[in-house]
Parts: sequence; structure tokens; C-alpha cells
Amino acid sequence: MHNTKYVFVTGGVTSSLGKGIIAASLAKLLQERGYSVTIQKLDPYINIDPGTLNPYEHGECYVTDDGAETDLDLGHYERFLNIPTSQANNVTTGRIYQSVIDKERKGEFLGKTVQVIPHITDEIKHRIQLLGETGDYDIIITEIGGTVGDIESLPYVESVRQLLWEKGEENAIVIHLTLVPYLAAAGELKTKPTQHSVKMLMQSGVSPDILVCRTEHEISDEIKHKLALFCNVKKEDVIQSIDAETIYDVPNLMFEEGLDKVVLGKLKLSSEKQPELIAWNNFIQKHKNPTSEVEIGLIGKYVELRDSYKSISEAFIHAGSTNETKVKIRWIHSESLTPKNVEKKLTGLNGILVAPGFGDRGIEGKIKAVKYAREQQIPFFGICLGMQMAVIEFARNVLNLEDAFSTEMKKNCKSPVINLMESQKKITKKGGTMRLGAWDCTLSEGSKTFAAYQTASISERHRHRFEFNNSYLKAIERAGMKATGINPKTGLVEVIEIPDHPWFVGVQYHPEYKSTVLNPHPLFVDFIKAALKQSKG
Ligand code: GLN
Repeated sequence: MHNTKYVFVTGGVTSSLGKGIIAASLAKLLQERGYSVTIQKLDPYINIDPGTLNPYEHGECYVTDDGAETDLDLGHYERFLNIPTSQANNVTTGRIYQSVIDKERKGEFLGKTVQVIPHITDEIKHRIQLLGETGDYDIIITEIGGTVGDIESLPYVESVRQLLWEKGEENAIVIHLTLVPYLAAAGELKTKPTQHSVKMLMQSGVSPDILVCRTEHEISDEIKHKLALFCNVKKEDVIQSIDAETIYDVPNLMFEEGLDKVVLGKLKLSSEKQPELIAWNNFIQKHKNPTSEVEIGLIGKYVELRDSYKSISEAFIHAGSTNETKVKIRWIHSESLTPKNVEKKLTGLNGILVAPGFGDRGIEGKIKAVKYAREQQIPFFGICLGMQMAVIEFARNVLNLEDAFSTEMKKNCKSPVINLMESQKKITKKGGTMRLGAWDCTLSEGSKTFAAYQTASISERHRHRFEFNNSYLKAIERAGMKATGINPKTGLVEVIEIPDHPWFVGVQYHPEYKSTVLNPHPLFVDFIKAALKQSKG
């Protein structure tokens, strides 16, 4: 049997230290050394998945091919590793409890008291090992969400403790990510918070094998020695993770610090083959040395929290590198756009992207941005709700259907050019019931989208309930907007374009989820190319 090895990543001191990036960077290095690796994230909240969360809570909801609504860290995993993740890569406390309670109702624990230990921890252990049982992976990295010491994290830390014991030290290790803060007044880096968080972890019976220390300043040998001594690790197992210019530098920084080598040593795996990162470094080289610059307006209603649009902003970085262009994003709150200021707010942009979203807040602002892009011949990219707004704007201002709207915003509008999908009409529950995951689409030859993808058959990920209303298709096409991407099975319109415009594309799906460092998304690449052309007049 395939002996899958486990690396657990816990976090201490504060949240937002970048566990996801450290996990993804380590995975990247191991992958480059020839190991098959995947990463999973355990989230200690009670929602079944983040699909029902407002983006202000946890940032963007990421979607996998198999239709799981997941934590945004899975986006980093895919962008770094260039391999798809799935439902099994993200587990929440809600999901754990739901399956334990379902089993209890079925009578699977008949006669027993169902408890956190062993029933919840057994379920956590089972989920942690699911991907390992496929035999597809040499190493599985498991990121434990939250911070050590949180009440919610306790069953996870206990499960890790048991797995470490069951698997043995050559098969399972723990990396603890912590913060070494710099006190400007004292001019010193401080180790005490790390000592305390390691102590907290040890109280739960887990002692870390490796410490990765987030810092703003170089950690001296002396401080490494101190951290090692007080946290019970070897000095070479104290790894510095200094602030980086971009998250894409972190694999190289971790390599220089020897993180991957230390991990392989502990797992008794060969570290002979060196990671080369050729394509990766080529991407970074182009990203850091752009020969031109474009400015793209991102129109959304969650712009105060940029993590709400994480995959979109990363896709711009990938596409910018391909075009050797710096993509500057002008974040524009859709609620702030009025007929009076739209020109002032959007002037000078080389491209306009209207973002996905739900509900009617800021909707008229989005429609105004579409109108401006269409009339001023500025490259326009509409994603999901952004595509729907492009259809509404066109129906209102070109077809003169004044009351054109989506039934999401106005249930009884006279011209529902966007309406609820047939399959959605009877659904009342909110969680996990949208049209989710990968669906096929056929592109029309001769369209801009076809030219970008260079193929007619594509598959892209979805997350929506509403759709283009096909009873308006003929009228809309006659007026000059074309449906250039259609779902071959259902006939649903997935892509609209205005051929008589430099670049006007709206997609019902989310291309941003599939953009990776090694495979920048063709539509983002083409959009930036069009913006570049616009910038040169
Ligand atoms: N609210 C729209 C729908 O449900 C668009 C969703 C989105 O942008 N992801 O169809």
C-alpha cells in the first residue's frame, strides 16, 4: 500500500499569518522535487461550508470543479500547485458534526453516548485521511484553520495528536506557524508570544517539529537559538519567514531557509532531487519587470475587503505577467457610482471589470459602469453578476426595454431578461443549492472568446441561480449582442459578446477560479491584452 505521509500546519499568536501561503509554498517545493502533494484545510466554524457567508466575513468563497463552495485558501493551493482540489480538500466543523449526527440518527452508535472524544475526533481523523486513502499522494499537507488556543480548534489539535501517535514520527509531523513581532520602541524582535503559543500546543499533547516564524526583520542566530531552546526544537528546525514582496516569492524564500529539506529529512524521504521552479521563476521575472502598465477598474460592492475578490486579483497578476504588463487595479465601490460622477470615477481606465455578487445593493452603479464601457469603447469584462448586468444594460439602453431587470432584484419586472433557472424554482434552502461547479460550454467560432481559448469546448466553474432568459435571445442578438458560448446540454447562455466593440465579454461562469501561475486564464490574458491596446490608443 502507498505510504502517504502527513504534514500538519497549525498557527499561533494571531490569525492572518498566511498559513495557506506557507502550506502552498511547501507543497510547491515538494511537488518540484517530484512528490505528489495535495493540501487540505480544516475550518473550525459551524457553517457546513462558506457558501452562506458574506464575503466580509472570510473573503471570497472559492468553488472547485466538483461544485464545493470552499475557503479561499483552496484557491492558493490550486494557483500554486496547478492541480484541482475538491470537496475533500475542505472540511468544516459543521460538516463533521452533521455527519456524526446523521450517523447517530441512523443508529450507528446505538446504545452509546455520542461525544466529542472519540466520535467527533474519529470523524475528523477519518476526513483527514480520506485523500490519503486514494493512494494518489505521497504527502498530504493539512492546514488547521484558526489559532492554537481557540476553543473551536481543540478537537482538531486532539485529532492531530492522535494521528501523530498512530502514524509515528517518520510519517506525520507538525509545523507551527507563529509570529515574532518587532517592538520598535525596544528595537527588538520578541520571542515570548511564540514560546507561549508553543506551550499552549504542548498542553494539548502536541509538540511542533518545525517552527516557521513570520517576521518583518531578519531573525538572528541568537534568536533562533533562543526559540529552539525554549520551544523544544532543533535550531535548524526554526525557519524564518520574512515579509515578501509578493506571495509568489514565498516558495523561493522557504527553499533558501531549507523548509522543504527539513520536512523531507523528518519524513525520511529523499531530498536528492532539487526543486527547479523554472516556469515559476519565469513568471516572477516577468511579473517584477513589466514593460508597460494598464489600469483596470474593478467594480464591486465588497471592495473594502479585497480578499472578497482574491481569485480575480490573482488572475490579473497571472495575466499581467504573461503580457509583461503591470496591472493596476482601481477598486471602485459600485454604490458610489451615480449618473453624475460615473465619468469622473471611471476616466482614464484601460479596462473595466464588473464583479460577481448577490442582491440589489450597488446594482445601478454596476449598470452605469457597463454603459460607460460600452459607449466609450473601453474593454469590458463581466463576470457572473457582471455578465447579467451587461445584458440588462443592453436591453435597457439599446433595446429600449426600460424595465429590463433580473428577477433577483425585481421579482415582477416587465422585462425579466435575467431570470431564475427552471431547476432553481422549487429550491428554498440556501446552502449548497446554486448551480455549482464545472459545466461544459461550446464557443462560437469567430468570437473573441473562441480566439482567446483557441478551442470550442471548454469547461468552467459556476456559482449562481439566475441566468440569461432565452426568450429575449433573438431580440438581443438582432440588436448586436451575441450569445457566443452555450451549454451544449441545456442551451443556457454562458457567454455574451458585442462584436462591434474592441473587447466586450460577459461570462456567466467564474474564469478567475481556474487561473494559475503556470496556466494564466486565457480570458484574463486576452482582456489585459485588449486593455494594453486601449492604453496605446
Ligand atoms: N446573483 C447572481 C445569481 O445568483 C450572480 C451570482 C454571482 O455573481 N456569483 O445568478
